[in-house]
This record gives sequence, C-alpha cells and structure tokens, in this order.
Amino acid sequence: MRLFFAIFLIIFATSIFSEENNTEVYISLVPKNRVRKLLAFKEYQKYDIVATKEIVANALKTFTLKVEQDEELFFAERSHQHDAPFPLKKHQVKFENDMYVVTLNKDKVTGCHSPLFSGWALKKIRIDREIKLASQRERKTNLQILLSGLIQRYNFIDIDKEFIQVKLEELTGVRPVVVNGKTIFLNRRYEEKDQELSREYLVQEYKKLGYSATVGQHSSKGLGDNVVAEKIGSDPSKVFIISSHADTVRSALGADDNGSGTIGCLAIAKAFKDYNFKYTIRFLNFDEEESGMVGSRAYVDFLEKKGGLQEIICALNMDMIGYDGDKDRVFNVANCNDFSKPLNELVISTLEENSDKLNLRARKLCAYRSDHVPFWNAGIPALLIIENFFGGEPNPFYHSSRDTVAAIDYDYMRDIAALVANSAVKVLVIE
Ligand SMILES: [Zn+2]
Repeated sequence: MRLFFAIFLIIFATSIFSEENNTEVYISLVPKNRVRKLLAFKEYQKYDIVATKEIVANALKTFTLKVEQDEELFFAERSHQHDAPFPLKKHQVKFENDMYVVTLNKDKVTGCHSPLFSGWALKKIRIDREIKLASQRERKTNLQILLSGLIQRYNFIDIDKEFIQVKLEELTGVRPVVVNGKTIFLNRRYEEKDQELSREYLVQEYKKLGYSATVGQHSSKGLGDNVVAEKIGSDPSKVFIISSHADTVRSALGADDNGSGTIGCLAIAKAFKDYNFKYTIRFLNFDEEESGMVGSRAYVDFLEKKGGLQEIICALNMDMIGYDGDKDRVFNVANCNDFSKPLNELVISTLEENSDKLNLRARKLCAYRSDHVPFWNAGIPALLIIENFFGGEPNPFYHSSRDTVAAIDYDYMRDIAALVANSAVKVLVIE
C-alpha cells in the first residue's frame, strides 16, 4: 500500500513538473470590463480580448493556446496604414483581420518588433502576472463594504407624527408659513412662484434643524433646482442619500405626490438632528421629477462631473408614502438590479427587527418611475420606497386637485419614514 502511494506521488510530481514547461492559456472575447482575474487584456471595439489561466464563463468566443517554454504570448495588431498580411504561425488566434493573439519564440522578438512581423505591432502578454479588472457594477459597492463590517445595533429612532402633519399642512397651503419674513400660503405649489417659495421654505426648515441647506443649480439651463441639506460626518468621504421630489403636476397640491416623501425627509432630518454620524447624511428634494426626473438626472450628472459619485454609499428615495386606502399596511420596495439587493435586504431586515413598532408589510417589486433611476444608471445602489402604488392600490387622487392632506394616513406615513430612518442609521453609524 505504501509503495503504491509512493509511486503515485512520483507520477503526480512528474506531471506537475512537465506542466511548468507548457502553459495553457485561454484567449476569450468578452463584453467590456467583465472579467475579474486575467493575465492581460486588450480593448477591442465593443469587446475586450482577455488572456486568462481559467476558462471565462460568459465569453463570446474562447480559444486555447499552448505556450511552450521557449515561447512568449503577444497581441499582434496591424500597424497604422499597413496592409501587410499576417504571417502564418502555428499557434495563433485570429480576431477579425487586424487583431491576433500569437505565440513567438523569445529570440525572434526584440522590443515590440519581430522581423517576421513587419507591419504589425506586438504587445507582450506577461503570463507571470495577473491584472484585476472589474466593471463598476461588479466592484464591491461602498454599501456592501460598510454592511460587511456592521456590528452596532441601535435603539429605535422614532418619527414625530405631529410634526409631519403640521409640516405637510404647511407645504400644501392648509397652514400659513413665514418665508423671507412674509406670511404666505403655499397653495399654488404647482406654479413656479410657489415652487420657488416652497424650496425656500424647505431650506429654512432644514436650517432650523441645524443642517446646512441650499438650493443647488445642478444644470446650466437652470433646471435642477434641487434642495440639498446635509450634516457632514466625521468621515466625510462617504455619503448616504435620502431623497424625494418636491415638484407637483398642474392643479395638484401634491400632498401625497410628493409632499409626503418630502416631509418624510424633513421628519427624518428632525429625528437625526441630535445625532452625530460617522458618515455624511444628505437629504435631496429633487426638482422636476414629473417632467422626467430632470432634477435627479441633473444632480447625478453634476456629481459625475465634479467627481463626487464615488462618495455616494446609496440612495433611499421616497415618492408617495402617505396613502393606504384599504389599511392593509402594504408598501412597495422597488428594486430592479443585483447591486441594490444589499440595500433591499437592509430595509427588509430593519422592518423585521422592528415589527413590534412598524405596522407595515413590504411588497418587493421592480419599478423605474422615480428619482432612484439616475442613481441606478450610475451604478449606485438605490431603492424606491412607495405606498402600494405598483402592487394594486394606486392613490385614486394621484395627479389631481384632490391629492390633499384629507387622504393622508399619518400613522402609515410615520411608519414608512421611520423604516427609512432606522435603515439609514445602521449604515451612518452613530458616534
Ligand atoms: Zn411622484
């Protein structure tokens, strides 16, 4: 038995040794930026040509090449304005007419040239080294990294129901407000003048709660007058976004769509006002969602241009959180992609942990129609939190003059805002 084992070991060791003489490499054509571990890659029109030690699962084409001990591996690309034919080689892979992968004897190549290959540029593939390449969506998001280190548990953070009622009545012209020293009623919020005043009102309210707040012009055309309020964290390199849209459609006061989400943001800001967080909390009340997410698109573009996108951990977007006609307490958590799943799980687990305090039932589905979408397009985890709008109970007063506070269920609205607050606080880290 022992002798047999020893012979087996010798055979095994010999096979390892002989493999070192020849290296088998996979040359694959893959969609751009899709492979994590590779020996080398070359951008090629809409695709990448990659050389790997292991087979690539999602490759469009794969060829194997044996690289012998005295050979090296090269990308061979037709040089500019040359029409020299590719010199035939035994070991080669052809991608169209101007790109090959080829093995060459070491002594036949000097620098990037070989006398055999006039008219062709050679780029060496170093098979002793691994390069890591991953697309934005495959890269671990800030959220995943932060969630993986999550250990702290928090006491439940409550939302003030009286406050949301008073503030929603103020935003929809039921109660007077003082803006710029003048007492007014915001009862024509669908018109530009009241829109502007309501933005000033929101800025003033965030400031009262101790936040820095402003109306940011996030587009050169003057579109994207988004309200931005924030509290900088002790580590300002990461930002958690809670958002809503603050505009409304013609003739609608927009108590539910979307005064509810907007006052939800303000109520969360109030609940957070005495806490210091490790990361920055930023509230965004977007402009012109109703005209095709103009404000949120402009904002994400603005971040992209100024290089602030990498800071964003994720975005929780509330759009219509105040209507529950049948009192079944169902609301929708809308997600349509893999990279937002950890955020989805965060919200669902927060709901489960606080089931004694939050009278809500989550319905998961996919929906695109709100300000979370520009974040998705930029690869940032985001969710839409909305009443059961997509799940079978749309607000009958939606986009009409009857969308007033009369149809708002404040217990339901408070619970949704509390769910968002208690989900966010886990990532923000109380200090
Ligand atoms: Zn809306």
